[in-house]
Amino acid sequence: MRYYQWNDSEKKIPIGKIICLARTYREHAEEMQAEVPANPVIFLKPSSAIIFSGESIHYPKQSYCLHHEIELGVVIGKPGKDIAIADADKHVEGYCVGLDITARDLQTNAKQQGLPWTIAKGFDTFAPISEVIDKKHIPHTQKLTLQLTVNGEQRQMDSTDQLIWTIPDLISFISSIMTLERGDLILTGTPKGVSEIKKGDLIKATMNDLCTLQVDVH
Ligand code: MG
Repeated sequence: MRYYQWNDSEKKIPIGKIICLARTYREHAEEMQAEVPANPVIFLKPSSAIIFSGESIHYPKQSYCLHHEIELGVVIGKPGKDIAIADADKHVEGYCVGLDITARDLQTNAKQQGLPWTIAKGFDTFAPISEVIDKKHIPHTQKLTLQLTVNGEQRQMDSTDQLIWTIPDLISFISSIMTLERGDLILTGTPKGVSEIKKGDLIKATMNDLCTLQVDVH
């Protein structure tokens, strides 16, 4: 079991389930030739996929094509079920920047066969996350800049104002299906610009100047 790292506290919160969103940015849905859905598309990643800054993404032998996806992470502090949009903020403990590492070849195969994405998304080390910033330092999540470089070259940069749904919308929707527990992490989907990463690459992801995540691939 791993615990969140905080930028300014020693709080010990174990990392629970990871709920990932897909197709929450229009231009990313378009680059994947996917429809923008009427309701958010969600899937789960195991908490065993978590790594932190300074650690390495392990390239699994089952895949030939890994992609980076930079995402805003929302850490749940207060448990809840059927959370109203107006109450959603009370359930948030903090925010981080995270990567939804994806074995794109395995995901494409799964999509073609109508199978779940679990294998493509669930390998160990496929969920790198930064330190968590207490939500008191981030009063608004609508205009955060997510930026990702690979070996110093910019691959993704977009604002969370491009999200189709608000964070409270997403919390409310997810909690209408599954109870959100303290320590759960929501990865809110990636903007456009996903691309391939290879062994030896150094990936740096930032959210404004609030948090930085740096991992390599081996
Ligand atoms: Mg994603």
